[in-house]
Amino acid sequence: MSDTLTKAQRHRCMSAIHGRNTKPELLVRALLHKQGFRFRLHANFLPGKPDIVLPKYRAVIFVHGCFWHSHHCKRGRSTPATNQAFWKKKRAATVRRDRSVRRRLRSRGWRVIVVWECRPMTAGLPRPIARLLEPASIGTRRVPLPGKLPVKTGSRGCPVADG
Ligand SMILES: [Zn+2]
Repeated sequence: MSDTLTKAQRHRCMSAIHGRNTKPELLVRALLHKQGFRFRLHANFLPGKPDIVLPKYRAVIFVHGCFWHSHHCKRGRSTPATNQAFWKKKRAATVRRDRSVRRRLRSRGWRVIVVWECRPMTAGLPRPIARLLEPASIGTRRVPLPGKLPVKTGSRGCPVADG
């Protein structure tokens, strides 16, 4: 295991409550970095504040926690023992927001990749990312990163639907 990963794991202790800098995200970042990719983090000028932005590839990566984003896996389908209605509502809202965010990003010409935390990353970059970053996939779609885009935000700084 590289020094980057060790540092990454250590950094986990300081990770934010809101799912930023979670371990799977750090793994993806370490793998991208190791392969020489340049990226930006938590770009708040884009809908949904994507975890990782690869401007050269006009691509964004979301590293989703299975529970919060209701993945179709064991963890994603698990139900807490208490406050079931509360969690159900909260997670349904997250899924709706994710869908809206993906749609808005795509409509602006961004390619959206979702990496689930349950997917093993020990063998290298998750397949959707590896495929995207193959040299042939860049082609003519090389578009410069746009300037600061107007993103409406709600009372708590969360992006809201802009129609
Ligand atoms: Zn999962």
